[in-house]
Amino acid sequence: MSEQFDVEYDLVVVGGGGSGLSCAVQAAQNGLSVAVLEKMPQLGGSSAFAEGHAAFESDEQVKRGIDVSKDEAFRAYMDYSHWHADSTIVSRFVENAATTIVKMRDLGAVYEEVIVTAEDQPGELVTWHIPQGEVARVLELMEARARELGVEIYLSTPAKEILKADGRVAGVVATDSDGEDVRIGAKAVVVGTGGFAKNPEMLNKFSAWDCGAQMINVGGEGNEGDGLQMMFDVGAKEWSSIGTLLLFPFMRGKTVMSHTNTAGFQPYLWVDRDGRRCTNEICGLNFGNAGDVVANLPGSFYWAVIDQAQVDHLVQDGCEVGLGVYVRTGEKLTNLPMELAADVEAGTVFRGETLAELAAGIGVSPEVLEAEVAEYNRMCHDGKDTRFHKEKYLVPVETGPYFAIKMEPGIMVTMGGIKIDDQMRVIDQAGAPIPGLYSVGCDAGGLFGDSYILTVPGSANGFALTSGWLAADHATQMIKELATV
Ligand SMILES: Cc1cc2nc3c(=O)[nH]c(=O)nc-3n(C[C@H](O)[C@H](O)[C@H](O)COP(=O)(O)OP(=O)(O)OC[C@H]3O[C@@H](n4cnc5c(N)ncnc54)[C@H](O)[C@@H]3O)c2cc1C
Repeated sequence: MSEQFDVEYDLVVVGGGGSGLSCAVQAAQNGLSVAVLEKMPQLGGSSAFAEGHAAFESDEQVKRGIDVSKDEAFRAYMDYSHWHADSTIVSRFVENAATTIVKMRDLGAVYEEVIVTAEDQPGELVTWHIPQGEVARVLELMEARARELGVEIYLSTPAKEILKADGRVAGVVATDSDGEDVRIGAKAVVVGTGGFAKNPEMLNKFSAWDCGAQMINVGGEGNEGDGLQMMFDVGAKEWSSIGTLLLFPFMRGKTVMSHTNTAGFQPYLWVDRDGRRCTNEICGLNFGNAGDVVANLPGSFYWAVIDQAQVDHLVQDGCEVGLGVYVRTGEKLTNLPMELAADVEAGTVFRGETLAELAAGIGVSPEVLEAEVAEYNRMCHDGKDTRFHKEKYLVPVETGPYFAIKMEPGIMVTMGGIKIDDQMRVIDQAGAPIPGLYSVGCDAGGLFGDSYILTVPGSANGFALTSGWLAADHATQMIKELATV
């Protein structure tokens, strides 16, 4: 072992989420010695919350008679991003995502269904492969295989610096679980730290919005942009859409399974901080679009105004749109009455016997709210929305009591990051790969333009898992070539 390192491996993976574990398993299967450094006391990152991942022409789709061709998927990514996405990355992902399904199944994953996120969303491709136990189970399977193959997993060990020597990456410096610096040598380093959803300064700096501090992170607590910073420090170039975020309307203090939260993004009536209707609420069918809407509003929030009739409908008939598999589209929101009552009691949801009372609660002018609701109800009864052209869900708000639910920008993940090539190699300012450095998952840019493509559901986690093993394969090849020089 070289004196400058405390320990050495062929490959060091920074980040023990979906992309990092996929990389570690593949690299170890390829015969490399591998270490995974994870900042948190547990593995998983935001991947632990994911329900499923995208693939195209997979055997799971074929056996269910689902026809989503790779050509169609490629076009979907490119058209959705106005060809801003990097076609080489899109192509690599689209070509290889079905192999990821086979790899995960080889580890023991069982795919229960392949579905869309919102039945009512026009043009959504049927790409969301849902494993039994969701992605959390796949992570367990990857961890087990990694350990079986001798991968060393260091928890509570954040990497903080990438080391270079002779023009190539030589390892990393990390802080071990005792708080001591440890220098780890490696022939290749793969960075998959999951983006910067938990870093308000970076969110403000890179995204289109300045409400980073208000964004409610529902993903990994460790996603603070460490990997990006480390890669910038060694000359990495940022991907042009580094600020792409996967936002969604979310009620502060809730979980993604909450029924009050679900009521808050139904496509009924949304008003802004002044009590005025603020958009075509149909955007709620695609929570990513709705997230962009909420971030853009003055104050970055809206009030979902619902009445007792809508509450009853959500309980008895089910919701118009759910949230992934956490709350299924069409699910009956049976917890809603009890949850709403508790929220009203806690002062987190406002209730009014009349609209004027509701307006007073949320601090808007009663005249404005009453006029807005009256106009909205008139359009509902006419069946024609001349304000925002909503063609469905024109449900009047007229049966008190009334409720107002405050919805703010929730953030699942950031989707931009570092510029990589189609081998997942990190690109420097001059456009050349930095020898020995790879980036995967949410740290790597290229698959998306300025917004997340929810019409190809499962793209983020699909890319994390696929980019992980693709990086491992290239690193293996590169390390073998180094050994023969
Ligand atoms: C509620 C929710 C639901 C989702 N559902 C889906 C879905 O169904 N389908 C889909 O495609 N996507 C989904 N996503 C997004 C998806 O989970 C992610 O895009 C993807 O899995 C991220 O994988 P990753 O490996 O890039 O990052 P992560 O899984 O976040 O892993 C990164 C890891 O790096 C660690 N780390 C950070 N800094 C350091 C450091 N300095 N040193 C060492 N380790 C570090 C983090 O702690 C973390 O464990 C969802 C996200 C959320 C929050």
